[in-house]
Amino acid sequence: MGGAILEARGAVRRFGAQAALAGADFALAPGEIAALIGPSGSGKSTLLRVMAGLEPLDGGEVLERGQVVSAPGRRVPPERRRIGLVFQDFALFPHLDALSNVAFGLKGRADARAQATRWLGLVGLAAKAQAYPHQLSGGEQQRVALARALAPEPAAILLDEPFSGLDPYLRGELQETTLAALRTAGTSALLVSHDTEEALAVADRVAVMDRGLVAQTGSPQDVHDHPVSLSVARALGPICTFAAQAAAGLADSPFGPVSTGLSGPVTLAIRPEAIGLVPDAGGAFTVTDIRGVGLHRTVHAVGHAVGHTEGAGVKLVAFIDLPLVPEPGARVRPVAAPGALQVFAG
Ligand code: ADP
Ligand code: MG
Repeated sequence: MGGAILEARGAVRRFGAQAALAGADFALAPGEIAALIGPSGSGKSTLLRVMAGLEPLDGGEVLERGQVVSAPGRRVPPERRRIGLVFQDFALFPHLDALSNVAFGLKGRADARAQATRWLGLVGLAAKAQAYPHQLSGGEQQRVALARALAPEPAAILLDEPFSGLDPYLRGELQETTLAALRTAGTSALLVSHDTEEALAVADRVAVMDRGLVAQTGSPQDVHDHPVSLSVARALGPICTFAAQAAAGLADSPFGPVSTGLSGPVTLAIRPEAIGLVPDAGGAFTVTDIRGVGLHRTVHAVGHAVGHTEGAGVKLVAFIDLPLVPEPGARVRPVAAPGALQVFAG
């Protein structure tokens, strides 16, 4: 990408026989907040480490503002890159208070303490400047780590699951603080998250990793609505899948015939929130289980061979709004929201 702040081109990194990165491409644009998602082991952390210069490359290259900073046998060390890092294990200096932790990367600057104070303020911790790491909660420590990473005004900041290990309330709060701080600073950021919902909610752009490759990048909406593969669709959240045979561009599904545009074996996929279950004595599915509390329920249904055969043995999981939740044991007819069924070859 022209004008990228930080870019990996065909990045390869092997550990023994295994390729953690198998030719991954990703470019971070100026001012952009991008999220990197994908199943565990797909290479997210390795890509971040390679981009930061913590990990060497076996193939491909990493460029910072168009300059090659990593290539096989060649690596500009992390401290000579303008990249900030935030990881889950905060690694604050235990013997330094919050302010000194933030000022650490500003050593030699006359205004180091003033700047550190400003960044602590930006993450809402001005009052804790004199506290030592052990006197801070996990969320507060992570905010200090963020201020420390931002203070030297890096060209980009890489965050590897910075919110995991925090309780849900703190996660939400810290996520907001982090996003606000990044936007205020105008810093480009790449955030690795195993929480897809979080990633889709906060990012300008999402990249989905699969087996050492970046399988797809795009806006959260685009990637969510038009995944290029079933693996990408699965990485984006819960999804029900059905194997089917398509003939003449049509396949049978629990929702009736679906236009596939393909012939031969296909996999049909649909998000649980796009499924409705309409009570119908002649319906091909039976509600087997209802779980959850609150306004939405997770309803499990199983295909029942009465009148129809296409649903026999097929399992459905639907997220249904409370007023529309069927009775346990009820016979139902599944309906799909318009355009919600995705078709993949194979
Ligand atoms: P993710 O962050 O997406 O969970 P990682 O980048 O941590 O994935 O790992 C990708 C693959 O590379 C995994 O199979 C992992 O076991 C392997 N791997 C990562 N780092 C090392 C290492 N230092 N030594 C050996 N294998 C590694
Ligand atoms: Mg990881």
